[in-house]
Amino acid sequence: MRIPTVLAALTLAFTTSTAQAQSKKVYISVDMEGISGINGDNQTSAAGAEYGRARKLMAEDANAAIRGAFAGGATEVVVNDSHGSQRNLLPEDIDPRVRLISHSFKRHGMMEGLDSTFAAIIFVGYHAKAGSPRGVFAHTGSGVLADLQINGQSVGEGGMNALLARWYGVPVVMVTGDDVAIEEQRVTVPTVRGVVVKRAINSRAVELRPLVDARRDIEQGAKESVAAARPVPPQRLPQYTVRMTFRDPTIPEVATAFREVRLVSPTSVEFTRDAMPDAYRLIRVLYRFINTD
Ligand SMILES: [Zn+2]
Repeated sequence: MRIPTVLAALTLAFTTSTAQAQSKKVYISVDMEGISGINGDNQTSAAGAEYGRARKLMAEDANAAIRGAFAGGATEVVVNDSHGSQRNLLPEDIDPRVRLISHSFKRHGMMEGLDSTFAAIIFVGYHAKAGSPRGVFAHTGSGVLADLQINGQSVGEGGMNALLARWYGVPVVMVTGDDVAIEEQRVTVPTVRGVVVKRAINSRAVELRPLVDARRDIEQGAKESVAAARPVPPQRLPQYTVRMTFRDPTIPEVATAFREVRLVSPTSVEFTRDAMPDAYRLIRVLYRFINTD
């Protein structure tokens, strides 16, 4: 190889590794129940009278997190719409620097598109898990679940998503929502930065913070937590045993069509998968894609 060719190759290698070292991809999963200013059924369902307003509020919280992520050093931001139809965020309302993942027909739902190339994860608009007496709109998944346990630990959406994040070795650096959602997230991610945008009085009534204050804190929190994000080693457990307890026995009975799904009580099923992404997919199929009409 001639010297200039060697130099050119070395320069290319250096440029590539420098670019990789400097790239910082941030993943933002946006739910709706824990968005600033939202506390009504007619806001969170697409047929509701205030849905149009609510999706704008959702975009504003997402945009605050996006601004903060870029200010904290993100070179690329991917936003995943994570509520209901997962088609709430309008591309025209979202910061034009991001790519938006849209529609609920996804294998990994609220975490679609996540892989180990990301440097940090932010949960925006999250809520408490099923059975939490005080969290606003407390539920897990589609609402058919009474409880979800992974390896014996009861988790909500934030907990389940954090286990998937850990599988890929990507830190969950920030969560926004009501105070109960933040408390619950700390059980699975003790180091997470929480931005409380409203205080839950019970499962419906809330004390809302002024929108401008909430969005300022989301932006600031995202900036600082993305700037401070450090890689974490992937944590891959030997097995993921999942127990899903449903509100009624209809789905569990049908779910035993999957050979590995065992009925452990009239309302509970259990199954085991070796990898968290596989467990996540089956959890999602069981709570979302079995039609009980
Ligand atoms: Zn939701």
